[in-house]
Amino acid sequence: MSGTLTVVGTPIGNLGDFSPRAQEALAEADFIAAEDTRVTMKLLAHFGIRKPLVSYFEHNKRERGELICRRIEAGENCALVSDAGMPAISDPGEQLVAQCAERGIRVVAVPGPSAVVTALALSGLPTGRFTFEGFLSVNKKSRREHLEKLKGEERTMVFYEAPHKLAGTLADLLEALGDRRVALARELTKVHEEVLRTTLAQAARQYGEGGAKGEFVLVVEGAAPAAPAPGATVEEAAALALRYAEEGVSASEAARRAAGETGLKKGQVYRALLALQQEE
Ligand code: SAM
Repeated sequence: MSGTLTVVGTPIGNLGDFSPRAQEALAEADFIAAEDTRVTMKLLAHFGIRKPLVSYFEHNKRERGELICRRIEAGENCALVSDAGMPAISDPGEQLVAQCAERGIRVVAVPGPSAVVTALALSGLPTGRFTFEGFLSVNKKSRREHLEKLKGEERTMVFYEAPHKLAGTLADLLEALGDRRVALARELTKVHEEVLRTTLAQAARQYGEGGAKGEFVLVVEGAAPAAPAPGATVEEAAALALRYAEEGVSASEAARRAAGETGLKKGQVYRALLALQQEE
């Protein structure tokens, strides 16, 4: 009978975040597929786990993925880990999960910390709807095209970035999106954890000289919703109110704002908003 691939989240800094279930998953697997076997050896040593490791990373994932799938199909259980956080999220593993899914191999998760949701939760920005943009490309053209597409994005946007590229990324975000609120979440769950809630212009000034240290997640405010002009229909106003509600304000406050912007009566917009929410 075919085995299982278990995707196991590991700490993003604090080993105390490694759950008993995650430890059990590694201890019970027949083998562990790891992004960097040296990093995973340290984690295993800390928790007193001994297990055969197979390296699975960006440059060997094609042939290793095949080998891992064959071993699972032959009945072995594999645990997949990356260096930190959830595998497959800006980390190797996405393709292995897809490969297993395609071959009908059972894939389960032992969820753990991930920098994207941790930073979002601490950002103080709307969390109701967000997009994860990962790392911006270092290729100038793709980077420009990516940022161009984000200009009108109304959802909160989350980016990963390496410290030595932070200054350039802040400058590019400011140029493409204009000044916006941003939260820079640094060294999450570690001794020097810090969340700087500021604007892109201020952050670009602060880090313009370089010198950023540690790991960073940038959480950037979405574009202001394009308000329907006065004379909008109730449906349009309700759609606007729905966007506000999804950003985390109460239905009543969302209706009040949308009514204010469209010149319609709040009660009318409120009822249409509730109807929309029920439909969803
Ligand atoms: N799979 C991981 C996850 O689920 O969070 C992400 C791996 S990605 C290769 C590494 C990036 O995640 C870093 O460059 C940084 O942007 C972010 N990151 C990881 N750990 C972090 C931490 N403790 N504090 C802030 N950002 C972190």
